[in-house]
Amino acid sequence: MRAIPGNADAVVVGAGPSGLGAALAMAREGARPIVVDAGPVVGGLCVTRRRGDFGYDIGGHIPFVTDEPRLDYLRELLGDRLRWVDRPVHCVRDGKLVRGRYLDQRPTVPLDAIAEDGSAAGELGSRFGAEFVDAVQRPYLEKVDGLPLELISADRVRRLLLEQAAPEGFWFPLGGIGELMDAMSAAITEAGGTVLVDAPARHIDLTGGRARAVEIAVNGVTHRIETPDVVLAIPAGLAARMATPDAPEWATPSVEMRAVAIVYLDLARTRITDEPWIQVDDPRVPFARAFEPVNWSPEMAPEDRTVIGLECYCAPTADDPVWSLDDAQLAGACADALGGALGWVDATTARSATTVEVIRIQNAYPSPALAQVPAISAPATWLATQSGIHQARGSAVIDAIEAGEGTAETILAGRAGSLAG
Ligand SMILES: Cc1cc2nc3c(=O)[nH]c(=O)nc-3n(C[C@H](O)[C@H](O)[C@H](O)COP(=O)(O)OP(=O)(O)OC[C@H]3O[C@@H](n4cnc5c(N)ncnc54)[C@H](O)[C@@H]3O)c2cc1C
Repeated sequence: MRAIPGNADAVVVGAGPSGLGAALAMAREGARPIVVDAGPVVGGLCVTRRRGDFGYDIGGHIPFVTDEPRLDYLRELLGDRLRWVDRPVHCVRDGKLVRGRYLDQRPTVPLDAIAEDGSAAGELGSRFGAEFVDAVQRPYLEKVDGLPLELISADRVRRLLLEQAAPEGFWFPLGGIGELMDAMSAAITEAGGTVLVDAPARHIDLTGGRARAVEIAVNGVTHRIETPDVVLAIPAGLAARMATPDAPEWATPSVEMRAVAIVYLDLARTRITDEPWIQVDDPRVPFARAFEPVNWSPEMAPEDRTVIGLECYCAPTADDPVWSLDDAQLAGACADALGGALGWVDATTARSATTVEVIRIQNAYPSPALAQVPAISAPATWLATQSGIHQARGSAVIDAIEAGEGTAETILAGRAGSLAG
């Protein structure tokens, strides 16, 4: 039976990179945060699974480290368990693997060329020219997001351009991205914080427009944790729906989501390519990204074997041509593409592929449709009016850790202010 504290300096809802980043920053400054997560392990989407001799992340998870202090932070947490992967992301052009993402196929130009219409087509067109965008970048981006570039928000591609570039290679934990999350969780506990898994938040008490408590369910029993500060490291839409008293209706609109089904195949052979991560724009291929974890870390597979992970982006609807396939059909379609359209393995090897696992993330991210921008931002806008509520969300691992740290900074500054007062 776990002892659940009745109060905390701050309650962090969600133990993905945002929540762990927030709690670690607070605990290291002497605060006593409690992190609660609905799942059985920490890490959120940044979890590493093990199946027999194979290890793999939920999708290829590059921590996009862009500065020395952040690298020091990772080194301090992981020591010599951090390795440099000396290969950039690749993409397939004219049947060949080329260095860089589709978005990297042209030199980046300064970010002051903002598209007037707010669309991804306008944004990319003003940077690279419409003809180039149509030939090189459009097919991949449309395949992932399931919309014409004209209907995708410019902000979406701006973030991809800025946050997800790793032109020379990247740093990666030897045990997978989950090893970083586990190290962060251990460091929180060591610094005096508390991390609770299998402890979903059910209600956030916002009586009078300010944070008062979070109610969690543990083994069917409700526990109330009183707190002046709540860090929301979960989607704002979920959080707004947990508010008591209820959030206004305009703050909880329905939003269309995108899904990812990730198929992990064992092709009973050594590595298929030397690349960690490959973008694929071919519309005949169900997946848009392929990754071989063994190319990220030698600890992910025995020397003579590989698992390939294939990320299929789709809509979580019964009529979606990818999502509607059952696991066996989807795995078969992916194996066929490896042997057929892509020709990365011979047809016999493709046919003999066995499925290690199919992971389906039904609500992976909101569809970045321009028309959805107001609905996507509504819950966050309302939550921002509630005192003691701090929203920590990032669209990538490091970005998420930094968003968490930003909330910690605000909370700590508030405490220092009240002590000084
Ligand atoms: C297929 C895929 C590939 C990706 N690849 C990359 C990549 O290469 N590089 C990169 O930087 N980023 C990548 N990302 C994005 C990255 O995973 C996210 O940006 C990051 O995980 C966001 O962190 P987070 O902490 O905000 O949320 P999450 O990781 O989603 O964590 C949220 C946590 O909240 C918990 N939770 C939800 N509801 C409750 C509740 N009621 N009570 C308590 N806990 C709750 C969940 O269990 C979860 O643990 C990828 C994402 C996907 C889907």
